[in-house]
Amino acid sequence: MAEVISDQKDINFVLYEQLNVERFLKAEKYSDFNKKMFKLVINEARTLAIKEILPTYTECDREGVKFEDGKVEVPQCLKRVHKLLMEGEWGALTANPEYGGQGLPHTIFQAIFEYMAGANYIAMMYAVLGHGAGKMIDLFGTKSQKDLYLEKLYSLEWGGTMLLTESGAGSDLGALETSAEKLKDGTYSIVGNKIFITNGEHNLTENIIHPVLARVKGAPGGTKGISLFIVPKIWVNDDGTFGENNDVICTGVEEKLGLHGSPTCSLSLGSRGKCRGVLLGKENQGMQVMFHMMNGVRLEVGTQAYSHASCAYLYALEYAKTRLQGKSLEKGLDAKTLQVPIIEHPDVRRMLLKMKSYVEGLRSLAFFTAFCFDMIECTKNEDEKLHYSNLVEILTPIVKSYSSERGFEVCAEGMQVFGGYGYTKEYPMEQLLRDCKIASIYEGSNGIQATDFLFRKVGGQNGVMLDALVLEIKKKIDYSKENNVFLDLAENLEKVLKELEVKLKDAAKSVKTSEYKSAFAVASPLLEVTGDVVMAWQLLWRAQIADAKLAGNNGGKNVDFYNGKIMAAKFFIKTILPIATGKLDGIVINENPVVIIDEKSF
Ligand SMILES: Cc1cc2nc3c(=O)[nH]c(=O)nc-3n(C[C@H](O)[C@H](O)[C@H](O)COP(=O)(O)OP(=O)(O)OC[C@H]3O[C@@H](n4cnc5c(N)ncnc54)[C@H](O)[C@@H]3O)c2cc1C
Repeated sequence: MAEVISDQKDINFVLYEQLNVERFLKAEKYSDFNKKMFKLVINEARTLAIKEILPTYTECDREGVKFEDGKVEVPQCLKRVHKLLMEGEWGALTANPEYGGQGLPHTIFQAIFEYMAGANYIAMMYAVLGHGAGKMIDLFGTKSQKDLYLEKLYSLEWGGTMLLTESGAGSDLGALETSAEKLKDGTYSIVGNKIFITNGEHNLTENIIHPVLARVKGAPGGTKGISLFIVPKIWVNDDGTFGENNDVICTGVEEKLGLHGSPTCSLSLGSRGKCRGVLLGKENQGMQVMFHMMNGVRLEVGTQAYSHASCAYLYALEYAKTRLQGKSLEKGLDAKTLQVPIIEHPDVRRMLLKMKSYVEGLRSLAFFTAFCFDMIECTKNEDEKLHYSNLVEILTPIVKSYSSERGFEVCAEGMQVFGGYGYTKEYPMEQLLRDCKIASIYEGSNGIQATDFLFRKVGGQNGVMLDALVLEIKKKIDYSKENNVFLDLAENLEKVLKELEVKLKDAAKSVKTSEYKSAFAVASPLLEVTGDVVMAWQLLWRAQIADAKLAGNNGGKNVDFYNGKIMAAKFFIKTILPIATGKLDGIVINENPVVIIDEKSF
């Protein structure tokens, strides 16, 4: 079976027909680009993904990482990929050109990242973590910090990490115990133990820059007393030359379900009393700084999940067209009839259409969020800027959680399409499923995302973020009404949206009452239904575009393609969205058993 890469036609549909990314060219920030350049860079990324990154996916899973004497060896095949990413300057596509970034729109990055992440997310993790750490230094660092670290991180010569988690501080970062003490020279002595650190140690880059969360001695408890430090694996002198090895020791690498090409490290900082770091931003403001990187990575994790799902769908589609089993329903009783490809069986078609609708809806959602980032930077209208910032805020936990939940479900459905073969290592389905699972756990587990969604995003600032989202959804409902197109779908969506809004507002209010525990208990189900509504919105939008193309006779040879968009919207809104009403009925604040049940009764 040929290896698959993300769906080029659908990505182009989102870029050029749904979001019209050419509009960014009018903005001062992107005036040096043109549409041809956008297309060229995306095509180059796709070619690299197909020729060089995709072939490493299975290989790096089978080879895994090796850990010995504190050193980690990455799978051999990743070295060439990393070198090519460096040579092609793929490390900092949206970053500041002053420090070697390409300054491209986020929406263009989204397309490039989807191709590369879909080819081998593990290879990309080494790149994006360096980029994320660099962006944080760009935003909050001093001039000398930027001069010392940015170019090396953006060029991928150095890697990056995120050192947040400790054994007693996972979701609860306020409980962290890593400490920092200011030294006479202005640097800080860091002491502590971090666990589960992605790419915390490896031999792919000559240095690794660790952003580390720690508490300065005497600082308040909880998250208010956390500061952020840059802790290089090898100390970097003020003139850019290397100093001594920092006291950061890799004490172990986890054995885990998936992502075998990426080491998940335990790191001991300052066990010899010699770990040094420099403060990034101000003391006690570490969480605010770190959130910039975390929010970026959350969107990347959403992309990880749906790009695994996209591959799972495309493999399953290919398999279903060629695997012969059973007879057609029309001729089933005739023993002489030949077996048919399984795509003819209604239940297999159901699985495929479900996968297609989720993948396409999730893709549009992720691209739309990237598009909002660009609009914030492109528009000069302050109200519009605020609107798009509100959208980014409320969509981030949805992209992270909903994509990871549904992405995993799609991977599982893909395995189901393959039957027993999907469960074996002969096909990539089992690896996609394994690799996808982590997306709901790391970068703030989905339970934490739901809490953030309900209490900060829905309930925060008098509900303006929710209002921004509802406004966008209503635009597409109104389009259907005004143009008399897919009225039934729009009405279904409108009905669920209204019911959802009521429940969201009730739950956000309940948090300030004695029912606050029930409100916490329904945060995840509410996020899930919001995700369902967001899918319906995106799919309706796509169907409206497809319909206009077909009506304008622009469909040409793409008639099947556009019909596919319409069918995905119809399938989702008519057969999956109605379940959301039932889910909403199940979201109860009063006498919620989750809250009432005694611990002994579990
Ligand atoms: C492969 C891998 C890579 C990772 N990479 C990194 C990395 O690079 N850097 C880093 O710092 N960390 C990393 N992590 C750690 C990861 O972010 C944490 O595992 C995650 O944040 C959850 O923390 P925990 O494992 O301690 O689970 P816990 O916090 O113990 O949570 C267990 C369960 O309880 C729920 N829960 C906990 N508290 C609450 C609450 N207040 N409200 C509702 N539900 C709650 C959680 O949702 C979860 O379902 C990685 C982990 C893995 C497995």
